[in-house]
Order: sequence, then C-alpha cells, then structure tokens
Amino acid sequence: MVGDVDPPTGRDPGRAARALPRPTTLPASMVLTVTRACNLRCAYCPTAKDGWPSLDVDQARRAVTLFADRYCDAGRPGDVKLFGGEPLLVPDVVRAAIEAAVARPEIRRVTLSTNGLGLDADWLELVARNPKLVLTVSMDGRPRDHRRLRRALPGVADSYDHLHSLLPALRRTPRVVVTQTIAPSAARHAAANFHHLLELGFSRFNFLPGYFLPWRPDQLASLREGLSHIADEVRARWAAGRRLYVRNLFTWAPTPFFNTGLVVDSDGSIHPSNVGLSGQLDGLRGRTRVGSLDAPPSVARLRQRAAAINAMLAETLEPRVWESTLAADAALTGFVRGLVPAWIAARRRRRRRGS
Ligand code: SF4
Repeated sequence: MVGDVDPPTGRDPGRAARALPRPTTLPASMVLTVTRACNLRCAYCPTAKDGWPSLDVDQARRAVTLFADRYCDAGRPGDVKLFGGEPLLVPDVVRAAIEAAVARPEIRRVTLSTNGLGLDADWLELVARNPKLVLTVSMDGRPRDHRRLRRALPGVADSYDHLHSLLPALRRTPRVVVTQTIAPSAARHAAANFHHLLELGFSRFNFLPGYFLPWRPDQLASLREGLSHIADEVRARWAAGRRLYVRNLFTWAPTPFFNTGLVVDSDGSIHPSNVGLSGQLDGLRGRTRVGSLDAPPSVARLRQRAAAINAMLAETLEPRVWESTLAADAALTGFVRGLVPAWIAARRRRRRRGS
C-alpha cells in the first residue's frame, strides 16, 4: 500500500546520511504481502487488489521460519514487514506472522503497516507488549486532504474518524509511526498537513511522496517547498530538545518507493522486490519471480535479480512517470540530506545530557 509501504529515503541519501544505518544487504528484510485486498481505494495507490489470494496462517508461519532459518542469523538479524493491501483484513494471518517473528532471535523488528481501519485497543496493546513490533499508520493530514485521497469502499467507515477516535490510545502506544503520504494534488498542503498531524499529538513520522505518478513541474516545486518547511519545523524541534522521529533518516532503498529483500507475495511467490504489486507493473512479475515458499531462492539469486529491477522499471514505465518518480525521490533525498547534520547535533546533545 502506498501510504503503508516502507518509505525509501531516496536512493542516495548523501555522504552524511550514508553514515546512518542502511539496510541494503539483501535480504535484510522480508516483506510479507499478507493480502492485496483493501477496504480503501486511495487515489494514488498502484496496488492491484482484486482477484488475488491472501496468504493463510500456515504460509505466514512458513515464510517467517524460512526467512529466519535461511536468510538471517544472530550476526545479521533481519526485519519482517507486514504489508498489503490492508493486512488487518486478514487478522489471523497477521497475528500468526507476528507471533512467529517475535519468537525468533534472528528477527530484530516486525513492522505492521495499516490504513488503521482495523485497529482497536487489542492491536494497540499487542504493539505495546512487544518491543520488536512497530506500527505504521497511514494518515495524510487534515481531514479534507485525508478523505479526498483515501477513498473508502461503500459501507466502509471513515478512516480519519476512526483513527481520530483512537487518538488517546495511539498517543500512549510506543513505536507508532505515522506515514504521511504526499500526493501530487496535495503537495501544496504538505506542511499544513504535517502541522495537523503534530497537533494531533504524533511525534514519529514517515514521509512518502506519491511515486509512479505523473507529477507536474508545479507540483514537484510544491513538494520541495513543503518538505523544506517540514524540515525547518523538525530542525527547530530538535534544537529545542524535543523528540521527533523521522523514519526516512533510517531507511534506504535502491528502488524508489518499492521494497527490496525477500518479498513474499500474497500468492506465495517470492521476488527480490515488490514492484509487481503495482497493477501497471504486473507484467514484470514473471521476470522478478525467483521462487516460492516451496522452492525458495538462494541469497545470490535474490541479489542478482534485485540488481536488474531499476532497469526493468525504466524500460516498462512511461518516461514521464519514471522521470517524475525520480524527481519526487530526489526531493525526498534532499529533505533527508538537509536533516542529517541537525539530527547528528541533536543526538550529540542528547548523549551529553545522558537522555
Ligand atoms: S490503504 Fe489500500 S488503497 Fe490505500 S494505499 Fe494502502 S493498499 Fe492502497
């Protein structure tokens, strides 16, 4: 899901950012697409949702065991990312994957990304109880922009209202990260939407420009300007000693928007990237497929196929879509580069204070 996919921090975060943790060694992470089904139809979402199976509980457990046994070890712990579609539409599968993953010492962190509609007190308690578990919730900002972009299927609740009703519990729950997707049509409101999320009490953020969409030059200019305002606010808060987490500082991906690693799709097939989630890139799945849960690939095979992904994208996508994706990605990279010195200074100050 666009708003729920782990955001790449641009493809080259720059010299300073390169000093930060950068999980590029395949397969440092496993992406488990537990389902492609979703109860929203967000304006910017590329995921092909209909007509796909979902993983079952047994497949989810097998995937986690496979990842921990074959691709991780104590010296190279891995991360599990539970994505969709909307993962909480298959809650039993998500629970089984979480239970299996948190029990394995080779797995460092489990991220559950959701549009929030399926969240309740029980899920938040599960997050609070499990230090390895990180919850990523999609919220695009002010109600008007959020609702305009995150369209619900008929009969589905309003996701803004639902998340708003959970705010006190969300603020109490540790490791809740808000993903603010910045769509081209909302780019001029990016800073205002960020301020709204701050006012709601959130302090951990992901910023995710809409990728694989045609951005107009004026929209790209608004994106750069919005990110610049957001960076000013973040730096000011850090300078004042306030805690504000920007996950983009700690993530890096070789392919804009998509995730690289051991990617298990909802049909049990295995790929080095989840580019095939996108309906417009569906034709690439035959080329990216390197195995299945029954016949998993070697690390070398995953690496080899991962290296070919960007060339496949460049030759498959319309040039204006690929070029504007790279431009949006460059804007995000610039944002991260601009934050790194202030982040290092804030970290030094915290260490001196012993906090
Ligand atoms: S919530 Fe659903 S429609 Fe929206 S971005 Fe995620 S997968 Fe796509």
